[in-house]
Amino acid sequence: MTISENISLQPYNSFGIDIDAQYFMELNRLDDVVALREWRVNHDLPYLLLGGGSNCLFTQTFEGLIVRVNLQGKALVSEDDTTYYVKASAGENWHQFVRWTIEQGWGGLENLSLIPGTVGAAPVQNIGAYGVELVDRLHSVDVIDLDRGEASTLDKAACQFSYRESYFKSVSQGRLLITAVTFALPKKPRWKIAYAGVQQALEGKELTARNISDTIIALRQSKLPDPTIMGNAGSFFKNPIISNNEWQNLVAKYSNLPNYPQADGSVKTSAAWLIDQCGWKGHRQGNVGVYKDHALVLVNHGGASGQAVKTLAEDIIRSVKDKFSLVLEAEPRVF
Ligand code: FAD
Ligand code: NAP
Repeated sequence: MTISENISLQPYNSFGIDIDAQYFMELNRLDDVVALREWRVNHDLPYLLLGGGSNCLFTQTFEGLIVRVNLQGKALVSEDDTTYYVKASAGENWHQFVRWTIEQGWGGLENLSLIPGTVGAAPVQNIGAYGVELVDRLHSVDVIDLDRGEASTLDKAACQFSYRESYFKSVSQGRLLITAVTFALPKKPRWKIAYAGVQQALEGKELTARNISDTIIALRQSKLPDPTIMGNAGSFFKNPIISNNEWQNLVAKYSNLPNYPQADGSVKTSAAWLIDQCGWKGHRQGNVGVYKDHALVLVNHGGASGQAVKTLAEDIIRSVKDKFSLVLEAEPRVF
């Protein structure tokens, strides 16, 4: 295992920002953790565990070590009457893993098709799309505590999942290297097709994991820019979850404000709608902009700096706050 110096992160982040990391290593085997821990003893610098770099924005040289997690492998580890238990190593590509489960005849992950990135990053923000979140299909997460060098397995409760949040994102913040994730995939299908566009597109088709996956892929391709063509990190902002009181106040003024009531009485509204109402959709500011077909997606039109993306995000947050008194929160990690 080698640690390289002054490496451009451009191929390693989906925004395509050309910025350097002072140190860079690929973690290909579990044994490489030893070298990583040694490096930490000898350097008083930060490190960052990186998967596909599709939920990160780099705004300045990373003065520390980027650890690209590249552990590979996937298998059915056990099954019982109701469930297949499938384990995948952290460096596996998420979408390829989803399609592989479907090819094996195991449903459950189809709604999460075409999300960029790796299996190991999926628990970090409890990835979600089209009515399914990782927490709905997760069994456990294998980790190594990089401070202590100890391996353990966390069950679902220990991961403290909520909307685009987890113990890994909010508490452990990089101390725990996720090495593998085990999924519990139901043998009896529980299809979720209520999101706008999904049911209509499936009309006349048999309900199968493959057909749902294909439908979601087509929907996503029609709405979202491909990061290999136009740099982006998907939704740049989380959907605000507000109290029922806040909701009542806002809807009295904005009767079209989308609302998705939550189990605890709060209300999720649409960040895309709020941003669109402020006139940002399609706006361009130098080399950065808001995608023409989706107000939540900030894009790099080519050669943009991370700082320019950050400035645009701050301008959007300010204008949404001025109009709606709601403070949008960024979803990607900003460095
Ligand atoms: P990275 O960006 O590399 O890392 C993200 C975070 O995870 C960082 O904090 C990093 O330190 C940490 N991390 C990475 N690997 C490990 C590891 N092995 N151990 C511990 N920590 C680790 N997200 C959704 O939830 N739903 C969507 O529908 C969705 N659609 C998207 C569409 C597009 C076009 C894009 C570009 C992004 C989208 N995203 C979506 C965001 C992103 O794809 C997910 O958050 C994804 O899980 C990030 O994976 P990654 O490997 O690229 O993570
Ligand atoms: P959409 O279908 O246009 O819906 C807009 C927003 O309304 C979504 O963010 C979604 O919240 C919410 N919503 C819609 N129907 C809902 C329902 N029946 N119940 C509860 N909430 C509902 O969204 P989109 O932007 O095209 O994205 C489609 C799906 O892919 C969404 O689930 C979205 O989260 C996911 N996605 C995520 C990213 C990312 O980077 N995080 C990027 C692209 C797409 P939720 O976001 O909470 O689902």
